[in-house]
Amino acid sequence: MTFEGLGIDARLIQATDELGYVNPTAIQEQAIPVLLSGTKDFIGLAQTGTGKTAAFGIPLLQLIDAAAKYPQALVVCPTRELCLQIVKEIELFKKYLPSISVVAVYGGASIGLQIRDLKRGTQIVVATPGRLIDLIERKAINLEQISYVVLDEADEMLNMGFKEDIEFILQNTPKRESTWLFSATMPPEIRKVSKRYMKDPVEVTVGKVNMANKSIDHQYYVTTAHHRYETLKRIIDFNPGIYGIIFTRTKLDAQEISERLTREGYDIDALHGDLTQAQRDKVMGQFRDKSLQLLIATDVAARGIDVQGITHVINYELPDDVEVYTHRSGRTGRAGNQGISIAIVHSKEMFKLKQIERINNSKFNKLDIPSGKDVCRKQFFHFMDKLLSADISHGDYETYVPMLAEKFADVSKEEVLKRVAAMEFDRFLKYYENSEDLNVRERDRSDRGKNDFNKKGSRNDAYGAGKNEFRSKGGGGYSRLFVNLGTKDGFYKSSFLQFILDMSDLKKEVLGRIDMKDMNSWIEIDKGAAKQMIRSLDGKNYKGRRIRMNDAETGGGRKPRRGEE
Ligand code: AMP
Repeated sequence: MTFEGLGIDARLIQATDELGYVNPTAIQEQAIPVLLSGTKDFIGLAQTGTGKTAAFGIPLLQLIDAAAKYPQALVVCPTRELCLQIVKEIELFKKYLPSISVVAVYGGASIGLQIRDLKRGTQIVVATPGRLIDLIERKAINLEQISYVVLDEADEMLNMGFKEDIEFILQNTPKRESTWLFSATMPPEIRKVSKRYMKDPVEVTVGKVNMANKSIDHQYYVTTAHHRYETLKRIIDFNPGIYGIIFTRTKLDAQEISERLTREGYDIDALHGDLTQAQRDKVMGQFRDKSLQLLIATDVAARGIDVQGITHVINYELPDDVEVYTHRSGRTGRAGNQGISIAIVHSKEMFKLKQIERINNSKFNKLDIPSGKDVCRKQFFHFMDKLLSADISHGDYETYVPMLAEKFADVSKEEVLKRVAAMEFDRFLKYYENSEDLNVRERDRSDRGKNDFNKKGSRNDAYGAGKNEFRSKGGGGYSRLFVNLGTKDGFYKSSFLQFILDMSDLKKEVLGRIDMKDMNSWIEIDKGAAKQMIRSLDGKNYKGRRIRMNDAETGGGRKPRRGEE
């Protein structure tokens, strides 16, 4: 098939010839004749890179009235980059149609200049939704005579939270005769929009079409409300190369978490409704050029923001609305990249995950909140990779090598590496030295129903007793250890168990009965493992307090008072 065979005007063919287009692409072949024939509504399911700009751009140029100097065609697309790209291509196609003008209007640039461009008289306007609505509200654009509306990358626009904006635009084009919708995927939301605003559209599909965005891995972590912030930190620290957006439900949360994380040394800023446009632009600018690694935002404040290369979206709390979750997660996994959308949930929110899975036809993967050790290991490997891939081609290092060699003459390579690592990791090692397990496990939940460890005077059974786990083995080969840590230190039995096992590198099989009190606990342990446990914990710090652990029978540890056991 040739371009001539599609019914295209000679002047447009000449331009495509000069661009080196020999044959039309599949979407062009299927769309162009249909659109030129006067078909009113059209749906083209095609990915980026299939030549869809020409598929709608060429028919638009041919169909509009070049002599009339008012906007007749409106192309709406999700991002500023795409907006500029579409205009650039249309400019090339219209090389031999000089009386046609095309103008780009998009956010983040001077609205004054764009208004001036529009005033000059243009037939085709290519716009991002937010800026277009701004122009409509200022009455700076006349949509009265728009006959053609093209929605390009409609799924992306919906993912970015532009659904209402698009509907508003469609409702504000009273003379709209044709609506052409292009999308890489066909989620139910797009179907709804097409049903509502289009009449018997001709539908054309090129390549495979996904129902949902499969390039996003949906993950969740279960913790307590109390540990939400710590969990967030763990997730960030566990992903050293993260470039992400954190979503909160409230402005106050966004502000507070941002301030707290900044104080703790993270590259983060908040985007919320109280910022002036200038402040907002500044934050967005920094995030876009990656001088900010993390952005924390409320849903309203994040509307329409479009940044390439987001690796993670974190739901600090899940939204009530499934659609909002879809918009949030749609910020990642774009343009063919893989992305991760994380939800921090507590056990009572599981139903929300199920609801999202059902409606979006997606699946959440449950992950364990990484332990302090996991985080440190991950940071360590990341750093080593960074070290090995550091660019040393530019500095004048050779000049200093003899001096370095002399200075390090007596220091082994291992020691240098250790020292470099120590410099980089001090913060993590110190912070995670005695970190606790933040996961809420099935066991914790059923345990808590039976015992409220935080309530004074409540009766504390041995860990898991009644379920035949860690039940006292009756003395035998057991030692009984005392430790000055208890529920007041924020431990539940399972997190305490995890903590002492992590610290000592022992297996849980060596443990017998564990009795926890507010300030102290007693641990039954295989006689052979007792020493290792004491050695690993005694004298260490936990949250700034020195841990004291010894043999309760011989080592002077306070024995439980009567009634405490
Ligand atoms: P698009 O999907 O519109 O972003 O187009 C992807 C790329 O393919 C652009 O760089 C176009 O210039 C190019 N292109 C579009 N149509 C053709 C064609 N028929 N032959 C060769 N290249 C094309």
